[in-house]
Amino acid sequence: MKAKQRVCRECGGNAKIVHKDYRFIESGLNNVFLRDIEVVVCPKCKSESPRILNHDDLIRTIAVALIDKPSELAGDEVRFLRKFLDEGSGTFAQMLGIDRSHLSRVENGAMAISRQTDRLVRMLALVHEPTLLDKLKRLGRYDAILQHLSAIESKTNPVRVQLDHAENGYTYNLKAAA
Ligand SMILES: [Zn+2]
Repeated sequence: MKAKQRVCRECGGNAKIVHKDYRFIESGLNNVFLRDIEVVVCPKCKSESPRILNHDDLIRTIAVALIDKPSELAGDEVRFLRKFLDEGSGTFAQMLGIDRSHLSRVENGAMAISRQTDRLVRMLALVHEPTLLDKLKRLGRYDAILQHLSAIESKTNPVRVQLDHAENGYTYNLKAAA
């Protein structure tokens, strides 16, 4: 593929536009990858700046992917869902019926999430934000998601969340991460 030239915003060098998989760390998660998107890459200062399409749908799709995760949520995933719901940690802890300090230990990874809190975080997200249910319906995962609650592994196994952009919105793929 022929790379187009761009001026790097960081150093003013000659950057180019390439198509590649991009680790979407801007999400606050380190296991989310956007497949084959346009990224402005600067060979001089090594900066990478992704072209993110349809940002709202992207964040929503990451949220449903986490709710669909087959093992318990990691701390940063709980934090992602809390921020997605636009809740402060105090209010969110109250909703979950736990102490605020307990929630921050979970979010920081100092303490594993309990089985009940894990399920409650997922269900709160679904109840709180009905667009997630629409998204699950569109992806054909609506029925699966409740059945799947009983099969969640009681370990926080890391997953790789892969997102593909299509005309009618993002789709997700969950893979076991190494
Ligand atoms: Zn640069």
